[in-house]
Parts: sequence; C-alpha cells; structure tokens
Amino acid sequence: MATTKKVIQVDGGNSTPTQPSRTFVPTPEAKGRATRLRLIAGLLWFVAICAQIGAIFLLLKQVPNMMIWMIVLIVVDLASVIIGSLLWKKSNRLDPASEKDKFKFFLQNQLGLFAAIVAFLPLIIFIFTSKNLDGKQKGILGGIAVLALAIAGITSYDFNPPSVEQYTEQTNRVEWLNDGQDHVFWTKSGTKYHLYEDCPHINSKRTDEIYSGTVAQARELKNITELCKTCENRAIKERGLKEADYSAGVSQTTSEANE
Ligand SMILES: [Zn+2]
Repeated sequence: MATTKKVIQVDGGNSTPTQPSRTFVPTPEAKGRATRLRLIAGLLWFVAICAQIGAIFLLLKQVPNMMIWMIVLIVVDLASVIIGSLLWKKSNRLDPASEKDKFKFFLQNQLGLFAAIVAFLPLIIFIFTSKNLDGKQKGILGGIAVLALAIAGITSYDFNPPSVEQYTEQTNRVEWLNDGQDHVFWTKSGTKYHLYEDCPHINSKRTDEIYSGTVAQARELKNITELCKTCENRAIKERGLKEADYSAGVSQTTSEANE
C-alpha cells in the first residue's frame, strides 16, 4: 500500500543551485533571528540573576516564610537560565561561530554554562556561609541550589557546538552529491538528513511528515548533523561521482582560502 506523505518545505522551495566549496554564511534572515534570540536569552539571564539577588536579599533580611520564598526564587532563577540557554544554543545554530578563534568559539557556544554559574554560585556561597540559617535549613536550601546549578549547567552546556567550518563542510558535501543543490530531507524523529525524499529510511518510519530545506535548516530545527549513508552511496552511484574529485575540490578551496 502506497502512503501519501506531506513534505513541509522549510525554505519555501526556492533553493537555487549554488557554487560548491564556498564558506558557509548564514542568510540575513537567519542572522536577524539569531540576534533576536540572543537578546531574549540575555534578558532571561538578567531575570535569573535578579531572582538570585532577591533570594540573597531575603536571606540577609530574614523575612517570614523565607524558606518558601527562596525556593520560589530559585525555581524562577532556574527556569530563566534554562530557557535563556536553549534560545542561546538555537541562535548559535542559526549563526555559528568559527573554530579559527578557539577562545571565542568556546565562549560563544558555552556562554549559557557561564550564565548558569553566575546565576547560582553566589547564592550557594551565601546559603552555606549564612548565620541566619540552621544546619537543617542550610542542608535543604543549599541542596536545592546545588541541584539547580547542576541542572542549569547540564542543560546550558552545548555538547555538540555548531561551527562555520562544520556547516561549510556539510553543505559542500551535500552540494557535491546533489548536483549543486543544498537541499535535504528529514523527519521529526530522525537523526540524519537525506538527499532523497524516497529514501527507505524515511519512508519505512511511521511518520507522515517529511521536512525539506537546507543543511543549515536541518541543523537549526532538529540539530541534525549527519548525512544518511544510504542516500550518500546512492548519489555517488547514480551520478557516477568520484571521491577523488571531491577531495580535489576541497583541497583547491583550501589553497584558495590560504592565498
Ligand atoms: Zn537516506
């Protein structure tokens, strides 16, 4: 039985053949969205730090129901850090950093981790050194704050940071395989992008929606970084491509870039 599948075109279907072997540059639209996401992330991290300052203030002032209010503020702090960091990571997938400057690359990709530390570490120090809390209270509040820092840190850290070089390589590879077109397919649950809409790996899955767009969009929307091997081999076979030509093209670009 043939199933009809809906293909959702993310890029509006206007992908034009592009010159192979060029450095990846985000579209002005992607750059604009990245900037907006970064501003919102910064704002949320600011809210997180304000919540932390509020919690420290309560601790110093010893207000009634201090424990409950501090826990509420720690939750606000945590939620703001996490949402901010998720938006920050998304902005980097839209507008990745270059690996050439290692320090800037690390800082840009892992800024969420620093935000998590700044948003919790001072509070943790205040809790454990406070004279206004007894041992049991310190254990409860300190434990909650340390756990919040751990959760914020893990969710903020980018375990698979995107880079201009990675996008360039992956886009060039797809364009070489795909007759100059940066156009791939993926599904909601898949972890790979495909060159062919009728690839058995997308069609055998129990999904009724196939997405299509550029390599960068597959990364941005689903964090997909891998090309389907079946599609790759099929393209090489069908188009009679030679791996040596690709390597030659890449080394040619590298030498051009170094000139
Ligand atoms: Zn495939």
